[in-house]
Amino acid sequence: MERGALEAARDLRETDPKTSYTFFSIAETSGKAAEELKALIPMPAEIEGGGSTWFYVCGECHGSIDTHDKYCRHCGHPIDWSA
Ligand SMILES: [Zn+2]
Repeated sequence: MERGALEAARDLRETDPKTSYTFFSIAETSGKAAEELKALIPMPAEIEGGGSTWFYVCGECHGSIDTHDKYCRHCGHPIDWSA
Protein backbone atom coordinates (compact mmCIF):
# COMPACT_ATOMS: atom_id res chain seq x y z
CA MET A 1 0.00 0.00 0.00
CA GLU A 2 1.41 3.38 -0.83
CA ARG A 3 1.76 5.98 1.83
CA GLY A 4 -1.16 8.06 0.62
CA ALA A 5 -3.53 5.12 0.83
CA LEU A 6 -2.31 4.21 4.32
CA GLU A 7 -2.93 7.71 5.52
CA ALA A 8 -6.33 7.70 3.93
CA ALA A 9 -7.15 4.43 5.67
CA ARG A 10 -6.02 5.85 9.00
CA ASP A 11 -8.14 8.93 8.44
CA LEU A 12 -11.11 6.74 7.72
CA ARG A 13 -10.55 4.80 10.93
CA GLU A 14 -10.18 7.97 12.95
CA THR A 15 -13.35 9.53 11.71
CA ASP A 16 -15.00 6.10 11.83
CA PRO A 17 -17.33 6.68 8.92
CA LYS A 18 -18.82 3.20 9.33
CA THR A 19 -20.14 4.06 12.78
CA SER A 20 -21.30 7.45 11.63
CA TYR A 21 -22.99 5.86 8.67
CA THR A 22 -24.67 3.27 10.92
CA PHE A 23 -26.01 5.96 13.20
CA PHE A 24 -27.13 7.94 10.20
CA SER A 25 -28.87 4.89 8.74
CA ILE A 26 -30.67 4.16 12.00
CA ALA A 27 -31.77 7.76 12.32
CA GLU A 28 -32.94 7.82 8.73
CA THR A 29 -34.69 4.46 8.99
CA SER A 30 -36.46 5.23 12.25
CA GLY A 31 -37.45 8.62 10.89
CA LYS A 32 -38.99 6.97 7.86
CA ALA A 33 -40.60 4.32 10.05
CA ALA A 34 -42.16 7.04 12.20
CA GLU A 35 -43.50 8.74 9.09
CA GLU A 36 -44.85 5.48 7.72
CA LEU A 37 -46.42 4.63 11.06
CA LYS A 38 -48.07 8.04 11.21
CA ALA A 39 -49.37 7.54 7.68
CA LEU A 40 -51.02 4.28 8.75
CA ILE A 41 -52.96 5.75 11.67
CA PRO A 42 -56.44 6.64 10.43
CA MET A 43 -57.42 10.27 10.79
CA PRO A 44 -61.02 10.99 11.76
CA ALA A 45 -63.04 12.63 9.01
CA GLU A 46 -63.95 16.23 9.72
CA ILE A 47 -67.00 18.18 8.68
CA GLU A 48 -66.54 21.47 6.91
CA GLY A 49 -68.97 23.94 5.52
CA GLY A 50 -71.80 25.93 7.01
CA GLY A 51 -75.57 26.30 6.99
CA SER A 52 -77.11 23.67 4.74
CA THR A 53 -73.86 23.04 2.88
CA TRP A 54 -71.42 20.78 4.59
CA PHE A 55 -69.15 18.00 3.56
CA TYR A 56 -66.63 15.62 4.98
CA VAL A 57 -62.97 16.37 4.62
CA CYS A 58 -59.85 14.37 5.25
CA GLY A 59 -58.53 15.02 8.75
CA GLU A 60 -55.01 15.03 7.34
CA CYS A 61 -55.13 17.24 4.23
CA HIS A 62 -58.70 18.64 4.48
CA GLY A 63 -59.51 17.58 0.95
CA SER A 64 -63.17 16.74 0.39
CA ILE A 65 -64.02 13.05 0.67
CA ASP A 66 -67.12 10.86 0.53
CA THR A 67 -68.47 8.78 3.39
CA HIS A 68 -67.49 5.59 1.57
CA ASP A 69 -63.87 6.62 1.09
CA LYS A 70 -61.68 4.42 3.24
CA TYR A 71 -58.67 6.35 2.08
CA CYS A 72 -58.40 10.00 1.27
CA ARG A 73 -58.56 10.48 -2.49
CA HIS A 74 -56.16 13.40 -2.19
CA CYS A 75 -53.38 12.29 0.14
CA GLY A 76 -54.18 8.58 0.56
CA HIS A 77 -54.43 8.80 4.33
CA PRO A 78 -56.71 6.21 5.97
CA ILE A 79 -59.97 7.73 7.18
CA ASP A 80 -61.45 6.81 10.54
CA TRP A 81 -65.23 6.93 10.23
CA SER A 82 -65.87 5.57 13.71
CA ALA A 83 -65.16 8.91 15.34
ZN1 LIG B 1 -56.16 13.65 2.73
